[in-house]
Amino acid sequence: MRLLPSRAAVAPLRHALDAPAVLPSVADLVAVERPEEPMHCLRPAAIAAAARGFVRGFPGATLYAVKANPEPAVLRALWRGGVRHFDCASIAEVALVRGLFPAAAIHFMHPVKARGAIREAWARHGVRDFALDHADELAKIVAETGAGAAEGLGLVVRLALPRGNAAYDLSGKFGATPEEAAALLRAARPHAARLGLCFHVGSQCLDPLAWKRAIALAGTVARMAGVPVEVLDVGGGFPAAYPGMAPPPLGAFFAAIREAVEEAGLAGAALWAEPGRALVAGGASVVVQVQLRRGDALYVNDGVYGALSDAGAPGFAFPARLIRPEGPPPAAALRGFALFGPTCDSADRMPGPFRLPEDVREGDWIEIGQLGAYGACLRTAFNGFDRARLVEVRDPPMLGGAEEAPARAA
Ligand SMILES: *Cc1c(COP(=O)(O)O)cnc(C)c1O
Repeated sequence: MRLLPSRAAVAPLRHALDAPAVLPSVADLVAVERPEEPMHCLRPAAIAAAARGFVRGFPGATLYAVKANPEPAVLRALWRGGVRHFDCASIAEVALVRGLFPAAAIHFMHPVKARGAIREAWARHGVRDFALDHADELAKIVAETGAGAAEGLGLVVRLALPRGNAAYDLSGKFGATPEEAAALLRAARPHAARLGLCFHVGSQCLDPLAWKRAIALAGTVARMAGVPVEVLDVGGGFPAAYPGMAPPPLGAFFAAIREAVEEAGLAGAALWAEPGRALVAGGASVVVQVQLRRGDALYVNDGVYGALSDAGAPGFAFPARLIRPEGPPPAAALRGFALFGPTCDSADRMPGPFRLPEDVREGDWIEIGQLGAYGACLRTAFNGFDRARLVEVRDPPMLGGAEEAPARAA
C-alpha cells in the first residue's frame, strides 16, 4: 500500500492548439503563432515512413526503444508505420505503451529493475520478456513474476561489448562478460520459454562491422553455454543523418547482420532489433526565437536543459534554418553562429557552428532539425524554462526527402 502519491516531475509537452491540428508547414506555424516559447514540430508522416522502412528491411522483429521519444503522437506514428513491439526501460514507459496499444508486445529490456516494476509489468501489463545481466536479477525476475517456462517467461541476457566507435558509448554500465553470460544462460534456461542474448553497440554507430563483431561474440557465448538460444536481440544504435555525418544506408547494416548471424551459427534464433534514434530523429524539430545577438553568438529560448542537450557538451551538429515571416528577406550569405540557451548556466551553450544568414537578428526564429530522438525527452524544468509546445506539421524534414529516402530503403 502506497502512502505517498507518485507522479511525473516534468510535465509532458502541451499541444499548442486545442484540437490537435496538422499545420501545413513550420513557416506557416511561425507566421501565425509567432511563438515566444520553443515549439516542437512533429512530422508524423516522416516517422511512419522511417518505421515502415525499418520494419520491412530488418529480418526480424522491430522493437522501438521508447526512451528515444515517448511522445504519444510519435508512438502512434510508429504504430501506423507497422511497429508492434516496444522496448521499455521503466514501468512508466510500460504503462504508457500499454495504455496506447492494448495489442502491443512490450519487452522490459532494462537489466536492473525495481521489484515492484517487474511485478506490475508481468501481472498488470502482460509483459513477458525481461533483460538481465546478473544472477541476482534473474532471481528477482523469477521471484516477482512467480513464473517460468510454462507461463511464457522470456529471459534475455545482456552481453557487455568492448568499447566501440559509436558516437555514444553504452558499454560502461550494463552487460555480462562472455563467461558470466554463458553461466547466466545456463542458469536461466530452466525458467525460460524463450531464452535470448542481447547487446547494444552504442548509439549513432556508423559501422556495420560493429554488429558483425557483436554477433560473432554472441555466437561464441551461445556455444560456451551449450544450451539452446531462441532469440538474438541486436539492440539499437542504428544511425540517423546529421550534418557532416552521412551514415551508410540501413540496408548495409541489415546485410551485415544477416551474414553475421549465419556465420555465428545463430540462424535458428529469432532476430530482434531495438532501434530508437533511426526511427524518430528526422521526425521532429524545434523552433527557437532569437532574444539577443552578440556578435556571432545568439541567445535563444531553448538550450541544453531543454531539447538541445546533445548540441551542448556532446557537440552534435544539427541542421538549422532561419524563419523570418516579416521584414527584409534574410541575407543570402551564411555564417557560423554559436547558440546560448535561456538558463543562467554558462554550460548552456551550443557551439555549433549553426550556419545561418549573416544578418540574423533579435526576433528571428530558427528551426533546428533532426531533434526527434533524444530531444524533447531530455527537457528539464531548470531555471523555470519549462514551457514548450507541440504541433504537428506536414512539410518534409530539413534533412528529409532525397537524403533520407535511400537510407530508409532496405
Ligand atoms: C537506448 C537504447 C536503445 C536505443 O538506442 P538508439 O541508439 O537510439 O537506437 C536500444 N536498446 C537499449 C537497451 C537502449 O538502452
